[in-house]
Amino acid sequence: MNPTLEIHKGKIAKNAEAVLNLCRGRGIEPAAVIKGYNAIDDVTDVIVEAGYKTLSSSRLPHLRAVKRRGYRAASLMLRLPMLSEIREVVEVCDASLNSEAETLARLDAEASQQGKRHGVILMRDLGDLREGIIDSPRLIELACRTERCHKNLDLLGIGSNLSCYGSVMPTCQNLSLLADDAAEIEREIGRKLDVVSGGESTSLQLLLRNEMPGGINHLRIGGAIMLRAEFSGLREGEMPDVTDDTLILKVEIIEIGEKPTHPIGVLGVDCFGNKKTFEDRGVRRRALAAIGAFDVGSHEKLVPLDENMKILGCSSDHMIIDIHDCARRYALGDIAEFKLLYQAMLYATANPMVSKVVID
Ligand SMILES: *Cc1c(COP(=O)(O)O)cnc(C)c1O
Repeated sequence: MNPTLEIHKGKIAKNAEAVLNLCRGRGIEPAAVIKGYNAIDDVTDVIVEAGYKTLSSSRLPHLRAVKRRGYRAASLMLRLPMLSEIREVVEVCDASLNSEAETLARLDAEASQQGKRHGVILMRDLGDLREGIIDSPRLIELACRTERCHKNLDLLGIGSNLSCYGSVMPTCQNLSLLADDAAEIEREIGRKLDVVSGGESTSLQLLLRNEMPGGINHLRIGGAIMLRAEFSGLREGEMPDVTDDTLILKVEIIEIGEKPTHPIGVLGVDCFGNKKTFEDRGVRRRALAAIGAFDVGSHEKLVPLDENMKILGCSSDHMIIDIHDCARRYALGDIAEFKLLYQAMLYATANPMVSKVVID
């Protein structure tokens, strides 16, 4: 059996609704982020059905699929457009996140060419050091310039991204800076901004604790809809309606038995060039499963459903699992089951060698 990813639509629908209700209850409109599950149509169907008005991704093929399927939702490009993809961005996306004056000028010219309008959300870097303008005067100036000079662009608002490169947490303090920028831009241009986008799934914790500063009215949510993201900062008991078993990966056991836990021989590096150390735990029962880095990136991003199972490592196509303490007596040909963390979701959903099975 190919490694198989079960996609549980009912569970995804519940999560999507729980996130939507939480946000709308606090005056926030969430855009659904479809990149994390590789924009699998069955999942996007569920998310649109739940009532999300914007579908967003960092990848144009995902947004092209949104247009092709004719959803009523708007499409938002999350990654700053490459200069080499301006034409397609204007064709396929209703709006995009931006930080470069040159890119904005090119989007404006292209929108004029195509006889279209293109929405823009300007990004402020609040310290996570990925995309965005790092100081507020420059952000405000670019916003005013966009409003006044780019006749084919609609300045929808501003936004920020956190918890990605710099692992900076969203807080009332840093998001207040974004809300202040928005207020200043609104004064300068003499109208309200539609969107003040305060981050991604990790920002939900501020909503739950009533710490979201006023003025933030938009979030971009992917991870929390799919898997109660491991990095979302949620505490025990918060968002009990959101589960992390929407995707279950099933893999077949191809060798089983007892082996030593310490390798035998002179140690160099493993198949990925890593030097490793091993704890000698004696001879233990283990299983070899037909899956590897090819399918999930790293074994560390899988969580066994059997709590007593421990993943020891993987190469490209094999995963080594300690089953010594499992109550169930696994046999050759049995199926081991795993939940996925975000990175494993990225790999497994996008890999054509992982079969997908949609379950209602
Ligand atoms: C991926 C991405 C998101 C979604 O993040 P999640 O953690 O999946 O909610 C939001 N904004 C931007 C700019 C992104 O690239």
